[in-house]
Amino acid sequence: MRVHLVNPSDLSFGTAVITPRWLYVLAAATPERYGMPSIVDETLEPLDLESIAAGDVVGIGIHTANALRGYSLGRLARERGAHVVFGGIHSTLFPEEVAEHGGAHAVVSGDGDLVWPSVLADCEAGAPKPRYDGGRIEGVSFSPARWDLLPAEKYMWGSVQTVRGCPKHCSFCSVWRTDGQKPRQREAHAVVREIVALRRKGFRFVLLADDNFYPVTLSDLAAADRRADKTQLESLKALRQERFDLMAQLEQLPSDMVFYTQITMEAAEDPEFLDAMQRARIRGALVGVESVTPEGLKAVFKNFNDAGEALVTRLQAFRKHGVHVLGSFIFGLPTDKPDTFDATADLASRAGVSFAQFVMLTPFPGTVDFAKWEREAENIGSVDGVPLTRYWLIPPSKRPKVYAPHPLMSADEIRARTQQVWDRFYAIREIWRRSDCVKSLRARLAFVLISKLYRQMYANTGIATDSARVARSAKRARILAKGARRLFMAKPMPDLQEPSILAARERKTFPVRAVS
Ligand code: SF4
Repeated sequence: MRVHLVNPSDLSFGTAVITPRWLYVLAAATPERYGMPSIVDETLEPLDLESIAAGDVVGIGIHTANALRGYSLGRLARERGAHVVFGGIHSTLFPEEVAEHGGAHAVVSGDGDLVWPSVLADCEAGAPKPRYDGGRIEGVSFSPARWDLLPAEKYMWGSVQTVRGCPKHCSFCSVWRTDGQKPRQREAHAVVREIVALRRKGFRFVLLADDNFYPVTLSDLAAADRRADKTQLESLKALRQERFDLMAQLEQLPSDMVFYTQITMEAAEDPEFLDAMQRARIRGALVGVESVTPEGLKAVFKNFNDAGEALVTRLQAFRKHGVHVLGSFIFGLPTDKPDTFDATADLASRAGVSFAQFVMLTPFPGTVDFAKWEREAENIGSVDGVPLTRYWLIPPSKRPKVYAPHPLMSADEIRARTQQVWDRFYAIREIWRRSDCVKSLRARLAFVLISKLYRQMYANTGIATDSARVARSAKRARILAKGARRLFMAKPMPDLQEPSILAARERKTFPVRAVS
């Protein structure tokens, strides 16, 4: 019985930016007696169905955007006599749909790290159960990924996870509902061990693929300090100290390493944390700005963000600490007006944002927005008999790009204006101007290439409605990605040792700032 792990994708680029971590985590959780799993990331190349034999297990991980491709692979694998097992966020939310459309023998919900061996044992015995609940495991139980199985010369950045879960509750995000609001942090040495394994292979750029790298804010500490019972304060302080421990260890890794993460804007008010990020060489962070107006932020339950000039100041604080921001903005909020697009592009430029993504409001399953939209979406329409409330089941070429009716603008107007903002932000002159945030010519070149690649991969293939433009963009992205990869990799360091934990702790024990 061979185990296949498949990451579905409609588009393949030959080279990918970030290593898809879940594939290598499940490979680590696969018991040795099944041999080395076959790992297929379709963002590189499509799955070769001939490699699947009767009796094999095919594990397919899906999120909403790649669910339809996953379902078609699942049905084809089942026709070949394999046991088909689905996991991932979308499977957790829609187990019945997965069984109906994807030919699934079994659906795993929650974290797969610990439950995967039982699933395989049941498949081996010819009796997989229809459902497995992996639950939400503690950080100490997260499986480290098997980076030794990575194919050579295919990815630009490694990825490790340091924390799952986010205490916030943004209306458009499913993370806090699927991964929970309690941050589940991994021990620093387990994270660093994986990073060392990646650097040994030549990866010097590593994404800390966390839901929120800053799970304890100064306001959280102040609120906990106001309570008579100090239990929560102590546990928050411990979580915060663990972040500093991790950053102190990152600091000891080879000096050519660069880290990137995802963080809330509140970190901008915490200079101690920003200083530690700078020392740890966390040089970039995705920050969910979402909207530049207070009304827009209220609409997405993100009142903890700033708007207007205060937003500019907060975003600049990251840059002052050497942390380059990838600002994420949402268009199509009910409060948006036609002039919101230009205002957003202007603000992104003034705030010194290095990269930006402009996404159209999409109600993602598992979110508060989706539940509301589904409740109110009577007679919203369908495509080929598929209701729009199940839009991920519509083939990508026929799938609408905007779903929620807007009070002022048509769907086409929102799409066209969003595309214009991408075009404006990623015009070559603008990219070159922004590239002065790095020093050497090689680094500026890498900045330009990754900016162009980002736009080709995410804007043109995600927003364009015409399939010829999508195909052209995918082709260009393939070429750009190959060139960009060389700029990101470094000479492998096969003998690199893990930093001493003790030395890091002794050097960096951070006091928690007075929080009252
Ligand atoms: S958008 Fe970010 S801050 Fe908001 S709930 Fe999701 S992960 Fe947390």
